[in-house]
Amino acid sequence: MNESNQGQPQGSPTPQSRNNRPPQNGGRPQGGNNNNRNRGPSQNGGNSGGGSRASRGAAIRAQKRTQEDATRLVNQYSDASGQTVSMDPKRANFIDDQPRLKIIGLGGMDEGGAKNMIVVEYMNDAVIMDCGEDLGVDLPGINYGIADTTYLEGIKHKLRGYLITHGHLDHIGALPHIVPKFPAPIYGSKFSIGRVEEIFGNFGLPMPDGFELRTVTMNENTHERLKVGVFFVEFVRITHSIPGSTCIVLDTPIGRIINTGDFRLDPNPLDHEKTDTERLIQLGNEGVLALLSESTTADRLGRTPSESLLEPTYTEIMKKAPGRIFMAMFSTNINRVQSVINAAVSNNKKIALDGRSLVSTLEMAVRHGFVRIPKGTIVPIASVANMPDNSIVIVCTGSQGEPNSALQRMAAGEHKHIKLKIQDTVVLSSSPIPETGNDALIGTMVDDMVHKGVHVYEHRNHELDGIGPLHVSGHASQDEYAEMIQMTKPKFFIPIYGAYRVKQRHIELAIEHGIPRTNTANADNGDIIALTPDKIEIIGNVPHGTVLVDQTGAIVSNIVVKDRVMLAEEGLVAVILTIDKKTGNLLTSPDIISRGFIYMRDSEELMNEFRAELRRAVAQRFKRVELDRFKVELREHVTHFLYEQTQRSPIVIPVVNIIGGGKPVGGPAGDVQSKPEVAKSPVEQAEDLQKRFQQMRAKLLNQDARVD
Ligand SMILES: [Zn+2]
Repeated sequence: MNESNQGQPQGSPTPQSRNNRPPQNGGRPQGGNNNNRNRGPSQNGGNSGGGSRASRGAAIRAQKRTQEDATRLVNQYSDASGQTVSMDPKRANFIDDQPRLKIIGLGGMDEGGAKNMIVVEYMNDAVIMDCGEDLGVDLPGINYGIADTTYLEGIKHKLRGYLITHGHLDHIGALPHIVPKFPAPIYGSKFSIGRVEEIFGNFGLPMPDGFELRTVTMNENTHERLKVGVFFVEFVRITHSIPGSTCIVLDTPIGRIINTGDFRLDPNPLDHEKTDTERLIQLGNEGVLALLSESTTADRLGRTPSESLLEPTYTEIMKKAPGRIFMAMFSTNINRVQSVINAAVSNNKKIALDGRSLVSTLEMAVRHGFVRIPKGTIVPIASVANMPDNSIVIVCTGSQGEPNSALQRMAAGEHKHIKLKIQDTVVLSSSPIPETGNDALIGTMVDDMVHKGVHVYEHRNHELDGIGPLHVSGHASQDEYAEMIQMTKPKFFIPIYGAYRVKQRHIELAIEHGIPRTNTANADNGDIIALTPDKIEIIGNVPHGTVLVDQTGAIVSNIVVKDRVMLAEEGLVAVILTIDKKTGNLLTSPDIISRGFIYMRDSEELMNEFRAELRRAVAQRFKRVELDRFKVELREHVTHFLYEQTQRSPIVIPVVNIIGGGKPVGGPAGDVQSKPEVAKSPVEQAEDLQKRFQQMRAKLLNQDARVD
């Protein structure tokens, strides 16, 4: 979808500060004294056993709520486990060998167009159009999501190729995960293939043995056509916010379909590579069975302003600025980078580059001839400090305030080479991506810069600043979406790459422009759109979902993420009990470890009560029930007690060690095993054990050996 794809947050911000232990209350309004606050209605807190039924119910309900919240949050991104292909029940069990086209969005049919990935299948052949990331996933430790590919297992043998519309990560980012599992050549324009090779080159994990990346570069300017399985493929040039953007024309045995890819119809693009409207009109005249049209901003009126409006603004700012100039933009927006280079050169300034993704993409673009930089224009970032301030322009990433981006580090005063100062000018040549929370990140960053006396230009204030625009969208507005329909004159219309509600708007627009309602389909992810020369219908759906990926590129299970969310919400309490097998007595004082719950040093009274409670629980129940039962009861009891005392439901992990006689027994989740030492008394054994716990804990908890 968007212009956003580069400079993606390395270490995406999460709402919870995972490593910072909040001083105590985790943000909840509470009195200073941890004891006696928020007693449950039973007024029975502190007593073990019955008499507090209402409160116990409340504790269980509270814990259930936390679990449900975590589940809800994570299930927005659940994978396809347990799902099967379901077809029209009237036709259950039939073998699908009908001469019809199946179009299935494994991604891209929801949100703002995320993890875009569309399967097109005809009898024994299939191609995949785009294969992107979902960059909008906001879960602890998760970098992005990719489409669940369970469905591809069953059609692996049919797969003939991946066809790429353009090189944004939400269209290509999942390729290094998915292509090794389902190998096939990747087709695209020269720039798109350059991007594909770049992301494979930068991918954090090794490729499986024997895997070979196969790419096919196609010329989008010459209407070159290649046979891919039973299909013929052609790419057609279109304007967007990255070079080499194309429509995919797929000629199938039942007719022609066109996937527009992300687009706008810029009459005056910065690289002068206009949309090949002539070819689109020609294809339309020859006949188009179905148009799959990108829908990101199909609810925006009018036309999107031309990208060429930005160049005069850049020149104007460069003329005005008294000192150094920092230009922040998306690294894949190579045409903007080129126009900054042009403006800098014509103002006799040198350019320094900062930001890993920017340098990587620019290197690729220079190698393939997409960017022209006069010799001697680029200087290393490390030498900026020694150059006259008014001679330098720094192009960098971080226009969204992404943590760890070049600009954000400069603003925070953490950059290795650059200290921002009075008379510096910073230009954010982008807009906050909607519905991401980037607004707040940008606000904080700009505040930091203004504190340092830096002059900051933002697009949203350009009228206030009396300058031209600093950003235009890479996506079309309604008049351009309508023009696409008019040019291609499709029989059937399928909106793709956008939120369901915006796709519905796009359908209404298509109907206004002569497409019968019955010839349109607003599909969800996983829906099977069946297309014949006469008919379009949704006939069922296939397993689909989101698979979560962390910083390293590794897949993370939803269950793990659910636990992380719960830990982040409520924290964790572990109780470690060492019990004499014969007497059933505690051999040492109960050991209590908590993280993210409350700061125990400040809650001495509560801790004393808690220990007393644990002693009581052991005395009352240990000898009477089986060990497993005891641990379950202990967990419930502790959950109840802590809820009564604090109105919270941390994850509770009981660890029970039994000394004397048989084997030592650990508790569930985080079991600890230790050998009984025959020569020592139970008390000595218990002390040894506790010492080992301390050591182990220090190791586990980052050398933090404190007891709290
Ligand atoms: Zn895009």
